[in-house]
Amino acid sequence: MIEDKSRIWLSSPHMSGDEQKYIKEAFDENWIAPLGSNILGFEKDLEDYLRPEKETAPYNDKGVNVTVLNSGTAAIHLALILLGVGKGDEVLVQSHTHIASVNPVVYLGATPVFIDSETDTWNMCPDTLEEAIKDRLGKGKKIKAIIAVHLYGMPYKADEINAVSQKYNIPVIEDSAEALGSRYKGKMCGTLGDIGVLSFNGNKIITTSGGGAIITASQDQKDRVMYLASQAKDNVPYYQHREIGYNYKMSNIVAGIGRGQMEVLEERIVLRREVNDFYKSLFSDNEAVSILTEPDERFYSNYWLSTLLLDPKLTKVVPSDIRKILESKNIESRPLWKPMHLQPVFDGCMYYGGNISENLFNNGLCLPSGSNLTPEQKEKIFDVLNKISF
Ligand SMILES: *Cc1c(COP(=O)(O)O)cnc(C)c1O
Repeated sequence: MIEDKSRIWLSSPHMSGDEQKYIKEAFDENWIAPLGSNILGFEKDLEDYLRPEKETAPYNDKGVNVTVLNSGTAAIHLALILLGVGKGDEVLVQSHTHIASVNPVVYLGATPVFIDSETDTWNMCPDTLEEAIKDRLGKGKKIKAIIAVHLYGMPYKADEINAVSQKYNIPVIEDSAEALGSRYKGKMCGTLGDIGVLSFNGNKIITTSGGGAIITASQDQKDRVMYLASQAKDNVPYYQHREIGYNYKMSNIVAGIGRGQMEVLEERIVLRREVNDFYKSLFSDNEAVSILTEPDERFYSNYWLSTLLLDPKLTKVVPSDIRKILESKNIESRPLWKPMHLQPVFDGCMYYGGNISENLFNNGLCLPSGSNLTPEQKEKIFDVLNKISF
């Protein structure tokens, strides 16, 4: 497959140039394996980046232990296992998300229960979450975990979600797959919940082509992750197993890509935030179009994707009109995530909330957001969007 150079992508890989240096090191050391110095180096880079600052941290006063894995989905799967999720348990999941947030719940024979969003951040609504917990508990259900997501890089309302989590003593898995580098009250996303999850898939803010990480508070949890991710092999010279494990370790080769990407992560965030500003100013005079922005100073988004929302009361234009116009100019855009409670595969699952996530799906669109957009490409996007009469 040859990249179409003229196409403007939603979010394409943006290399620093140093990735191949680290990959070469792996070859020079002959660590072509799921262990080696790139894995240790990438994990340390991530820990240093996410580690709590010195000043008193409301959440991050716990430890930050990172284990890199071969996908974000694997990280969610292992997070659920660490929390003891199994057959018959319920897990409360943000409905407006990518299906990877949910599938591991089903792998374990547990049942997802979907929660609607709020309109400020588009993420899990804390009030609906509490309503759902009360109702499920009243019906005698066992709720083992909450999965909240920082969608498109926008942090969820962490204070409010954590308050509900603490009140009912249900741990939070923080799906930070789209939000590496986003902050809430100055604290890094990925360290706000009980267990954090990252993804380095091809279109994320940094990529290893494919990969993920799990962020745990203790070294003991990290040891258990490493054990489960490498087939749950006992610490004896022969191959002995007392539990079912998984093959979820990251390769030392792709970890080298991660190390090269970490060198430029902060620059990439600045560039994505500039893209968001570009769209905000483009639509600043258009009442019918809003761009998702930080609701107040608690929130700092990496703006992994910039997203627009149309007000159907003010315009007849629908998102697919814009998508088709952009596509005709070889510019990629994408509908917002179709809520999980509307997915055929989750027919019959419980859902709490109204139609907020459904409205987002019906009226929203993800716009080209890459840190590698050139001024010429922005100009082209500007011209196309500016010609649409709303
Ligand atoms: C990308 C993504 C994941 C999954 O990560 P993979 O590395 O692709 O397995 C999970 N949750 C969300 C919200 C994502 O966007």
